[in-house]
Amino acid sequence: MKVLVINAGSSSLKYQLMDPDANVVYAKGLCERIGIDGKFTYKPQVEGKKRLDAIDVAMPTHSEAIAAVLKELADPENGVIGSMKEIEAVGHRVVHGGEAFAASVKIDDKVMAAIEACNPLAPLHNPANITGIKACQAAMPGVPMVAVFDTAFHQTMPAVAYTYALPKEYYEKDKVRRYGFHGTSHKYVTARAAAMLGKPIEQLKLISCHLGNGSSVTAVDGGKSVDTSMGFTPLAGLPMGTRAGDIDAGILEYLMNKYNLNISEMLNILNKKSGVLGVSGVSSDFRDLDNAAAEGNKQAALAVELFEYGVKKLIGAYAAAMGGADAIIFTAGVGENSAEMREHMVAGLEFMGVKMDAEKNKVRGKETDVSAADAKVKILVIPTDEELMIAKDTQALA
Ligand code: ADP
Repeated sequence: MKVLVINAGSSSLKYQLMDPDANVVYAKGLCERIGIDGKFTYKPQVEGKKRLDAIDVAMPTHSEAIAAVLKELADPENGVIGSMKEIEAVGHRVVHGGEAFAASVKIDDKVMAAIEACNPLAPLHNPANITGIKACQAAMPGVPMVAVFDTAFHQTMPAVAYTYALPKEYYEKDKVRRYGFHGTSHKYVTARAAAMLGKPIEQLKLISCHLGNGSSVTAVDGGKSVDTSMGFTPLAGLPMGTRAGDIDAGILEYLMNKYNLNISEMLNILNKKSGVLGVSGVSSDFRDLDNAAAEGNKQAALAVELFEYGVKKLIGAYAAAMGGADAIIFTAGVGENSAEMREHMVAGLEFMGVKMDAEKNKVRGKETDVSAADAKVKILVIPTDEELMIAKDTQALA
């Protein structure tokens, strides 16, 4: 089945056309600057087809973006399908499903209304996701569409993990609780880990570290998420590229009073100017930080160390939460690529049976067991594939 996977943001739209059974990608790409000037990128994965890099295409709304995608996919010369009728289903990434969605779901009017009801929980993301769904529905009437939520995998968390110590009416009335994100990625890599270890996932305790621009760590016991580091929003948990992660809420009052900031200015600082960018003053990109640290920049070194220390503490916390761990998984940009950071993040954990093989760890972007032969807790590098996961769910439900 040919499935189109769509990840719509407020001014961007990522797409990938694939066959989830064969795990074949026909084409992928990106529409950027929607509502501004419009840039279109198209990367066919079929021999002899031409790649387009950020070419100008007018995209006043997401509708023109989808139209550009469909036109190029079915282009007589450069396309990868004969006609857009070959697209049998569309899978949409949706950031927030609240407590309404514990799994992916086929989209109908009732589902759309329930997704819209989650908008206040993710005001930057969900409205953009909905815009993407509506644009696809208009362009491809009758084609089944499926929503795959970042939060769904974490709906198995017990109350003890998702409850904030706030007056209970804020949960009961306002649904303020830990939701967690990156669920599609955590679900995918933990399933792959079970396959690599040759054991049913029901018998495994796994700690999944998704470390990229945004980062989260999840405790997965018997295939179910039982705790995760992101919270009510993706601002919580680890320090990230530009996000602060967990901080003392009292800091907000102190800084807002001292510098006369309103709440949106404060949140802009916490979301866009903090994290490893804020601490280093150099960059949000870990490669830049490694380079700056190697040249002697102490703040860049501190920023990386802060991040690594945060991951190590979560590994310890989640091993405690689950009463042990069979494996630690590293995925996403940093987790898949940085051997050095992986080494730092597990250093000192030998007391709990974590032992890395430094030679095996010299690997990038390939499923690999990088633990020592006698390690009690395995360390696995597993490239994530959220698009494949979305396409699989979409095929199953469509
Ligand atoms: P996103 O959250 O945007 O999907 P990615 O998962 O692509 O992000 O991760 C991006 C991050 O991964 C960047 O900070 C980048 O510097 C980092 N990264 C990629 N390769 C390496 C590497 N070899 N060493 C250190 N960091 C890396």
